[in-house]
Amino acid sequence: VGEACDVAVVGGGIVGLAVARALALARPRLRLVVLERESDVATAQTGHNSGVVHSGLYYRPGSLKARLCVEGGRELKRYCERHGIACPEVGKVVVAVEASELDRLEALWQRGVANGVADLRRLDARALADVEPAAGGLAAIHSPHTAIVDYRQVAAALVADLIAAGARVVTGAAVRAATRDGARVRLRADPLELDAGYVVNCAGLEADRVARLLGARPTVRIVPFRGEYRLLAPAAAARVRGLIYPVPDPTLPFLGVHLTRTVDGRVEAGPNAVWTLSRRGYRRGLPPLRDAWEALSFPGLWRLGRRHLATAVFEYRRSLSSRLFAASVRRLMPALADVDLVAGGAGVRAQAVAPTGELVDDFVIVQDARSLSVLNAPSPAATASLAIGRFVAGRVLEALSERG
Ligand SMILES: Cc1cc2nc3c(=O)[nH]c(=O)nc-3n(C[C@H](O)[C@H](O)[C@H](O)COP(=O)(O)OP(=O)(O)OC[C@H]3O[C@@H](n4cnc5c(N)ncnc54)[C@H](O)[C@@H]3O)c2cc1C
Repeated sequence: VGEACDVAVVGGGIVGLAVARALALARPRLRLVVLERESDVATAQTGHNSGVVHSGLYYRPGSLKARLCVEGGRELKRYCERHGIACPEVGKVVVAVEASELDRLEALWQRGVANGVADLRRLDARALADVEPAAGGLAAIHSPHTAIVDYRQVAAALVADLIAAGARVVTGAAVRAATRDGARVRLRADPLELDAGYVVNCAGLEADRVARLLGARPTVRIVPFRGEYRLLAPAAAARVRGLIYPVPDPTLPFLGVHLTRTVDGRVEAGPNAVWTLSRRGYRRGLPPLRDAWEALSFPGLWRLGRRHLATAVFEYRRSLSSRLFAASVRRLMPALADVDLVAGGAGVRAQAVAPTGELVDDFVIVQDARSLSVLNAPSPAATASLAIGRFVAGRVLEALSERG
């Protein structure tokens, strides 16, 4: 015999936890269950990211990313302050190192202004040296309120909030099947059977598969991109004050290899963006057959490959060559020597790809009467998580009230 709840959230990453918290705040009597496949929350993208609280500089004005990043970033900082989580505003510079990047830097400035990012400054080479002495470049944008945080700590605080509110967070519960039973959905998450009034799918790298289990027909497919980091050796790390980013390629949703100070005092360089067949592809190696088959039988992937072949080849070469990786970092920090970089970790991004081969830029949320799926929540979704949570919770409560 299974248990019953009003809303089940699939996925204990920061987005699922934030959605559940927003639901608990809005409707304290709602019976809520979060189902997480792994033995702990925040072990996937949320636990393997750069830890940056973005200010909202990059995103197309009017997009969900722009709105929810600016709103969510502010809320996240307040949340961290209330919960005693370190979230210092170390500030960020986006640096143009070649004249050909100056127009794109200007376009970024315009976006930042349109998105209402506070206290942005333009820096010339001399002013850049004052803000980040180790950075080299022709011009930069300084975003002083960009912050850093450990998103695992935020996730742990969200779990504590949920438990205090009477919700359940069940780990080791991978959702494997969903059947519709009248107005309700029966979920099988061995060994648990759960009868839910509504299901919210925040399964990250598995979001398209879980959406299909729930009866949706998503046209997009999740394509995993591994992001590999190196660490700066202590002497080099001591020269970096905050965050140093390149001007991103506007045709890609990735921000480019950057230097990131972490709250525990390290400085990471990365991540690159290496396309992988494996949804848990933290290391190189053979992918699971199912991942490989699903990816290779998706026409969008082949079209993506044709569109971005040169970039994909370069990313593979840079992944295999520490010298090439060091050269990318040196564009931002000219005095860096190859030996200043040591091995670091990796994360895997979930990026939705359309059948046309396009990398879907904005957050994507699809919904029917019994379920809602967050199908594309790449960066800055961790920054935006509390705002995404409120946005999604609003749509879930609307759907529940329409059903009566
Ligand atoms: C390398 C890298 C760097 C990044 N840097 C930043 C940054 O600096 N700032 C920022 O804002 N964003 C950053 N991001 C993006 C950010 O980490 C993600 O947008 C965010 O973590 C997404 O959260 P999520 O909850 O959707 O996904 P996840 O954290 O991946 O959580 C999804 C959860 O669903 C679970 N799950 C999957 N399938 C099932 C199932 N069938 N049943 C039950 N549970 C299931 C998974 O185990 C996982 O815990 C970065 C991402 C990466 C990978």
